[in-house]
Amino acid sequence: MARVLIIGAGGVGNVVAHKCAQVPAVFEHITLASRTPAKCAAIRADIKKRTKRTLDIATVDADNVPQMVKLIKRVKPALVINVALPYQDLPIMDACLATGVDYLDTANYEPPNKAKFEYKWQWAYRARFKKAGIMALLGCGFDPGMTNIFCAWAQKMHFDAINTIDIIDANAGSHGHAFATNFNPEINIREITQRGKYFENGRWIETAPLSVHETFEFPEGIGPKEIYLLYHEELESLAKNIKGVKRLRFWMTFSENYLTHLRVLQNVGMTRIDPVAFEGREIVPLKFLKALLPDPASLAKNYTGKTCIGCLIEGVKDGRPKKYFVYNICDHAACYREVTAQAISYTTGVPAMIGALQMLTGAWQRPGVWNTEELDPAPFMRDVAQHGLPWTEVLL
Ligand code: NDP
Repeated sequence: MARVLIIGAGGVGNVVAHKCAQVPAVFEHITLASRTPAKCAAIRADIKKRTKRTLDIATVDADNVPQMVKLIKRVKPALVINVALPYQDLPIMDACLATGVDYLDTANYEPPNKAKFEYKWQWAYRARFKKAGIMALLGCGFDPGMTNIFCAWAQKMHFDAINTIDIIDANAGSHGHAFATNFNPEINIREITQRGKYFENGRWIETAPLSVHETFEFPEGIGPKEIYLLYHEELESLAKNIKGVKRLRFWMTFSENYLTHLRVLQNVGMTRIDPVAFEGREIVPLKFLKALLPDPASLAKNYTGKTCIGCLIEGVKDGRPKKYFVYNICDHAACYREVTAQAISYTTGVPAMIGALQMLTGAWQRPGVWNTEELDPAPFMRDVAQHGLPWTEVLL
């Protein structure tokens, strides 16, 4: 039985709070803190209605380390689950170090003024976390997170050698808006407008943004969809941790409508992250665009259709070539019925809760800073299937 502190009350924070509340045997006491108290209060009311449990809520600016330290000292959690934005990763890790508390997040750090996410900033905490005897688990959402664990599972259970991994993420759902992003618009647009990049034979190869695409046949009635090669953060850790892998790529589906809107927004400068002078003050166009777009959590109510995220892996087992696909299908409307969320928030929040559960129950307890594929995938794969994200394996 443990106390947890969740930072961030957006789409993902809502799911993490609901899913932790569903497992009182492990998450005995939950505090949800964010910048806007009203968002925490709304989540608390929904959880009370669904589970009869009462969360504590708090207001915090997680960029402010002393504020975070004060909150941690007051709440006394065994673990801080960071589902605010990637910008908060380092201050929250600093606060965990100062208070001797474990840490978990779902997205790696990137500096606000440069759209370049990398693990180097967080990996630099490894020795300090180890020395303090505390653990940080990085990137424990779906992608990164469950996709890394799919790879570790494949390595453990299915292959003697892995040659190639293609991580494929499809949202075959519809939210009814002309243009919206499924998680924080600022983080999402920064990610997909970057140059593409993949790993091959020990080298990183760059491609023009969204220039490489092909058609992929998705299972369970989703059918053929165009997938686009992107650089995604799990590629960096998998290239280090999946020994002998020759090629690693990440793909995501986008509709023609989405890409057309994005192209127009880019062409007119609305996705810029540098400040622009406007009527006597400075504004960052992408932050302004975020204010105009629907809040991702608000998409949940009318979302229909499914997501399919999986890993297509080729390699060798017992001297024979093997091709294997492991995936999850998640239904937007079912997520809404269960926790008032859409499937993108749900597929991120459930692995975060399951990772937290492994840390709190001791199945994953190792001082230092770790990516999810560095831990035993077996308990995670068992528990995640029982808590809303069943997975399917097929040999091709
Ligand atoms: P939202 O924008 O919906 O929510 C972010 C929350 O963080 C908001 O409640 C916001 O508060 C809060 N927040 C922002 N800055 C601060 C701060 N300085 N101090 C305290 N709270 C703050 O984002 P999502 O829920 O969609 O995404 C959350 C995280 O999950 C992101 O890091 C995203 O990259 C990650 N993610 C990971 C995925 C994966 O599979 N690994 C997939 C999808 C998302 P306020 O509203 O008051 O500003």
